[in-house]
Amino acid sequence: MRMHPRDPDVVVLGGGLAGGLIALALARLRPELRLLVIEKAGHFGGNHVWSCFESDVAPENAWLVEPLIAARWDGYDVHFPGHARTLDTGYWSLTSAKLDAALRSTLPPEALLTGADVRSTSRAMVTLVDGQAIRAGAVIDARGAATLPGMAGGWQTFLGQTLQLSAPHGLTRPVVMDARVAQIDGYRFVYCLPFGPTELFVEDTYYADAPTLDLPALRGRIADYAAAQGWEIEAVLHEEVGVLPVIAGGDFAAFWPANDAEPARAGARAALVHPLTSYSLPDAVRFALHLAALPDLSGAALAKASRAYAERRWRERGLYRLLTRMLFGAAAPAERRRVLERFYTLPAALIERFYAARSTRADALRILSGRPPVPVLAAIASLSGRGRPLADLGKAA
Ligand SMILES: Cc1cc2nc3c(=O)[nH]c(=O)nc-3n(C[C@H](O)[C@H](O)[C@H](O)COP(=O)(O)OP(=O)(O)OC[C@H]3O[C@@H](n4cnc5c(N)ncnc54)[C@H](O)[C@@H]3O)c2cc1C
Repeated sequence: MRMHPRDPDVVVLGGGLAGGLIALALARLRPELRLLVIEKAGHFGGNHVWSCFESDVAPENAWLVEPLIAARWDGYDVHFPGHARTLDTGYWSLTSAKLDAALRSTLPPEALLTGADVRSTSRAMVTLVDGQAIRAGAVIDARGAATLPGMAGGWQTFLGQTLQLSAPHGLTRPVVMDARVAQIDGYRFVYCLPFGPTELFVEDTYYADAPTLDLPALRGRIADYAAAQGWEIEAVLHEEVGVLPVIAGGDFAAFWPANDAEPARAGARAALVHPLTSYSLPDAVRFALHLAALPDLSGAALAKASRAYAERRWRERGLYRLLTRMLFGAAAPAERRRVLERFYTLPAALIERFYAARSTRADALRILSGRPPVPVLAAIASLSGRGRPLADLGKAA
């Protein structure tokens, strides 16, 4: 099919984290391109707070996320039964509202289509549910992870609430893990982001075997945690829920078969996530800038390049899948906390590289050696035996 001069050069499906960053990167670095971002919801970015460590983003890439940062801190704390630690790695929180605003102030209105549900797509054509067909030079599918066929693992489940307190909470930096809480459903910790003197985001998180959430119970546990800290809740300002896959193993070719029809993918849809934390922000930044630097942005070239990029990341990340198996396969649910507690005794730079998915071989040895609380051989042996299929994310709740 011949393209019309007004047809977009690149169509991004899904204006979430990955799609939004790709659009912002292309707008800045490839201003000659005609872009179109198609988003199902009425606004871009969903309803999220996305956080990351400052060390997750290379200094030369920070310009891309800078406009999305709603809060930043110079360090963070972790608490375990045996020890507590303050790390001086910066911590950033980005919001959906800022992503929406950045897209609207950077791209022309005709490049942004909201309330548009994609029904089907190829490398050069997108069809919306209302029947509209859009031709494109290239299509990038960034509609989130609807499914993870061929992959196995467990789940990170959480409920987060932004609390308005009646008096200052006294926290000056995030508490990324407070694991001194009762261990229920696997590894459990509470996560706190102090957005203001009396405004605090508190999340109750589980590394669990099942993708289920008992919301009333979690709300009660957040209230109990707040009470135990001496915080009086005046109002719950916002609530968010997550059921994220934690990847212990899998078959990349089954997840993303090589074929000549499928468009490029990005974000969680390309499995560009950290296997153990399920966070995708560091990858989304790197991939957006990788893509914007590609010489050939035709649909076929982009599809090939995105699959090759994701497959490389998959191959490099065996360490993190092994650690996931250590958590889910070899460690009894009540023992999972000890794996993390020991990890947090390691050097700060190693921890930074771990979260950025940039661990070196020496880091891997360090993480796995010494006296790990979970036998490594048992974890390796658990490769085939444990981990549940992650194919039905859409049905997880
Ligand atoms: C509550 C929550 C909190 C999280 N917190 C963090 C965090 O702090 N740090 C971090 O790194 N990761 C976090 N994650 C994990 C992960 O990074 C996010 O899920 C991230 O948003 C994934 O990015 P994405 O672009 O792949 O998908 P999304 O950001 O989900 O974007 C997909 C977009 O596609 C749109 N879409 C879907 N179907 C269609 C369709 N048919 N037509 C058109 N548009 C469509 C959606 O509406 C959505 O806007 C969190 C996840 C959740 C659920």
